[in-house]
Amino acid sequence: MEQALSDRSNNACELCGSLENLAVFAVSPKSGNSIDEVIHTCAICNSQLNNLDSADANHWRCLNDAMWSEVSAVKVVAYRMLFHLKAEGWPSDLLDMIYMEEDELNWAKEGISEDSAEKHRDSNGVELQAGDSVVIIKDLNVKGSSIVAKRGTAVRNIRLVHDDPGHIEGKVDGQQIVIVTKYVKKSS
Ligand SMILES: [Zn+2]
Repeated sequence: MEQALSDRSNNACELCGSLENLAVFAVSPKSGNSIDEVIHTCAICNSQLNNLDSADANHWRCLNDAMWSEVSAVKVVAYRMLFHLKAEGWPSDLLDMIYMEEDELNWAKEGISEDSAEKHRDSNGVELQAGDSVVIIKDLNVKGSSIVAKRGTAVRNIRLVHDDPGHIEGKVDGQQIVIVTKYVKKSS
């Protein structure tokens, strides 16, 4: 199979085109027993696919090309990575353009765990969790009150707004308010 895969990929990473340290990546939940279930990847793509939280969005600009592959397995991996990175903006635009047959789309979605996509993230893309402390990075008017949450205000013990990764809740001036995640920075 390796030989057939090398022929298909021209001995290049099917995602980013790198020629170095190629390995076979089985596209879950398939077992990888047939060439239709695997892709040829370089070490960088491979390691980031195996650890999505380490994914470097800039590296994955290559999906701009890879998403047009004629190989279903490549499109499936491209779709999943774009979905994972969609908070960056441009991957979301590519997702709007990618063309997937119905079975390809179903396969792609099988590999997306619900919580991986919809994480609450701060202005730097750092994941936020309930109980975290954040700092507000922009003066914010609080809806329905005269409070202005000043830039630099620390908010402790935040709560995540369920089903809405764009918002968290926290106390400012003793009042529980809703805050847009892109206007906060997680404090260490
Ligand atoms: Zn690669």
